[in-house]
Amino acid sequence: MSFDTLGLSPALLRALAEQGYTTPTPVQAAAIPLVLAGQDLMASAQTGTGKTAAFSLPLLERLYPDGKRLPLARKPRALILTPTRELAAQVQESVRSYSKHIGVRSATIFGGVGMGPQIDALRRGVDILVATPGRLLDHMQRRTVDLSAIEVLILDEADRMLDMGFLPAMKRVLSALPNQRQTLLFSATFPTEIKALANQFMRSPQEIQIAKPNSVASTVTHRVHPVNADAKRDLLLHLLSLDGSQTLIFGRTKHGCDKLTKQLEKSGLRAAAIHGNKSQNQRTRALADFKSGRVNVLVATDIAARGLDIDQLPMVINFDLPMVAEDYVHRIGRTGRAGSEGLAISLVSHAEEGLLRDIRKMLKQDIAIVNVEGFEPSHPLRLEGPGGARPQQGRAQQHNRRPRAQQPRGNGDHDHAAANKKRRSYRGGKPAASRPS
Ligand code: AMP
Repeated sequence: MSFDTLGLSPALLRALAEQGYTTPTPVQAAAIPLVLAGQDLMASAQTGTGKTAAFSLPLLERLYPDGKRLPLARKPRALILTPTRELAAQVQESVRSYSKHIGVRSATIFGGVGMGPQIDALRRGVDILVATPGRLLDHMQRRTVDLSAIEVLILDEADRMLDMGFLPAMKRVLSALPNQRQTLLFSATFPTEIKALANQFMRSPQEIQIAKPNSVASTVTHRVHPVNADAKRDLLLHLLSLDGSQTLIFGRTKHGCDKLTKQLEKSGLRAAAIHGNKSQNQRTRALADFKSGRVNVLVATDIAARGLDIDQLPMVINFDLPMVAEDYVHRIGRTGRAGSEGLAISLVSHAEEGLLRDIRKMLKQDIAIVNVEGFEPSHPLRLEGPGGARPQQGRAQQHNRRPRAQQPRGNGDHDHAAANKKRRSYRGGKPAASRPS
């Protein structure tokens, strides 16, 4: 299948060709014709499978038929909402690249940065608004944005946008939109209660389900290292010293992430932290440095769990397990994207047994439990169920990667990409187990 048959204009097809996209991903092939036909849509597909293009491309075609830009309407015609600022920036970047031959006016509206430039952009007029709900509400209150001409509403990471945290803001945004509009929901997961809620503000939505709910890419290898809580940091340093891959580490609290980042830096690693207490500048810089390879290790709260597209991220480590099993899927979705291989390691203490059980139950797949020599916990993990419960004795050396010290110190994109390509080639994808205990 090629993009040519999906009903997109030459201006969009040209942009896609320039991006190197030749074949639509399954969610794109399924969603694009439905969106072009004006249908409301609930689409669930694994993260990293091209959802952004699946909604951006038909959106652009609907707003600018045949790639023709209409006279500027001044009021935004499409609203894309995302749960985090980083994701808003990323989506806006994608929209911009797909629409480069149309010359679309779009703006991002999120908190942590000045209102002024956003107000100026809105005043000049934009067609497509990409926003996080909080700052959008600020603009609504100040009457610096007018949502009365919105034709298409898109919720990215829709399950998060409609959960308790965002729901009050979402209700206010929805009440400011015309009833006559197209609504598109995209998410990796669609819990039943979210679906029921969504049905209240959608018109006979079509459903697309590409992935099994709560599934992760098959290219990701999962591994648990049981460890005493107070030895986690040393185990992490040990793992990082053996493996020079670009690594995203998830911690539970903002303070914990800061502390861990400092400790990693003290150990000579190039690390940065990203969480909700950081200024937007710091968050943007941390992510940019990580993407460019200037820092090797990014320590994050779940703020970075959703949607972020980090090219060729080989490894995610859960320093702490997430409190909610679904968040494991989102975290792990940062690696193994677009068909590449990924490794997901979780450091699990005795107190986290229950969380791990939930994750295994939800994934419906076993996760290799591998003791790392010298870091065996005083209490073995108790996990009932098939396989997986018996830890294997692993030598972390058998990760078989180059020590971090030998990694190229390149800080340009080029070096980074080449180094990552090399690293990926020796990613075995097998547990580092040698002999069963
Ligand atoms: P997303 O799920 O939207 O975050 O996309 C994941 C990654 O896949 C991004 O880096 C996209 O640039 C890339 N991508 C999306 N669609 C395609 C396609 N049809 N062919 C190749 N790469 C794609």
